[in-house]
Amino acid sequence: MAAIIMDGKTLGLKIRERVKEKVLTLKEKGIIPCLAVVLVGENPASVSYVNSKEKALAEAGMESRDLRLPESTTEDQLLSIISDLNKDKNVHGILVQSPVPNHIDEEKIIFSIAPEKDVDCFHPLSVGNMVLDREGFLPCTPHGVLLLLREYNIPVSGANVVIIGRSNIVGKPLANLLIRREYNATVTLCHTGTKDIAHHTLQADILIVAAGKPEFVKSNMIKEGSVVIDVGINRVPDSSAKKGYRVCGDVDPEVSEKAAFFTPVPGGVGPMTIALLLQNVAEAAAAIMTVKK
Ligand code: NAD
Repeated sequence: MAAIIMDGKTLGLKIRERVKEKVLTLKEKGIIPCLAVVLVGENPASVSYVNSKEKALAEAGMESRDLRLPESTTEDQLLSIISDLNKDKNVHGILVQSPVPNHIDEEKIIFSIAPEKDVDCFHPLSVGNMVLDREGFLPCTPHGVLLLLREYNIPVSGANVVIIGRSNIVGKPLANLLIRREYNATVTLCHTGTKDIAHHTLQADILIVAAGKPEFVKSNMIKEGSVVIDVGINRVPDSSAKKGYRVCGDVDPEVSEKAAFFTPVPGGVGPMTIALLLQNVAEAAAAIMTVKK
């Protein structure tokens, strides 16, 4: 039987509608939520991500401070720009699009963002708060995965969840969130050092893949009736496509014949990430209001 498709586009739009209402309330109080979006260089995938984030901000009634910097921008110049944004009372969130060029130390840049404006939840203070179950921003993509599971009433408590990928933006935070008491999952985190990945994936009630490897997970690697969440977004050359490439996930869509639930790419986790970024910006702006009171 074919899997139920987990529709991140529709759920993402619902979240964006709620954010829009929150923005209206903030505007009545004289606050226009604003995200500074910093892009260094012209990496085509990054340009496209930044464009869609800015479009989404505008649609939600928010402002964006669009900072497109040349590839030659130095680390000191970037640090100085972030320092100004940290001080700017009209900017509530700061996003530096990853990756930055090789001559810039990305970690140094992330650490320089004021934690109260760290809407991506990449700063060590934000990450620490998340791991310790303290209040703070949740990282957008992992949060999106959790909300999709909730929307489709997938039982997570006690489930065997296998994650492929240990990045700081997806695998690591997701594992940390899923072991919270409120989710109560048993988590296995696989990575490039894992021996016999299929041995683990075949045990998964819920398999979450964030490896950055096009269609890496095949049908023979998943358990019948499992939930498969594909976080991957890959561009693979395709001469028959208008743009010369096609976008695919880290999971071969053939698994939808064996899985019970499956996220499509595009239209699964991706739209959730943007929606939750908007939500974090609105929350950052609302927090400023609380401080002002
Ligand atoms: P990354 O490259 O930083 O990390 C990939 C991880 O996968 C690594 O930890 C590595 O150990 C693991 N890995 C790679 N190949 C493996 C293999 N053969 N076997 C086992 N483990 C393997 O990637 P990332 O930033 O976490 O992104 C992963 C994917 O998710 C990419 O396709 C990216 O474009 C996508 N992504 C999507 C969203 C979204 O909004 N949907 C957000 C972030 C990332």
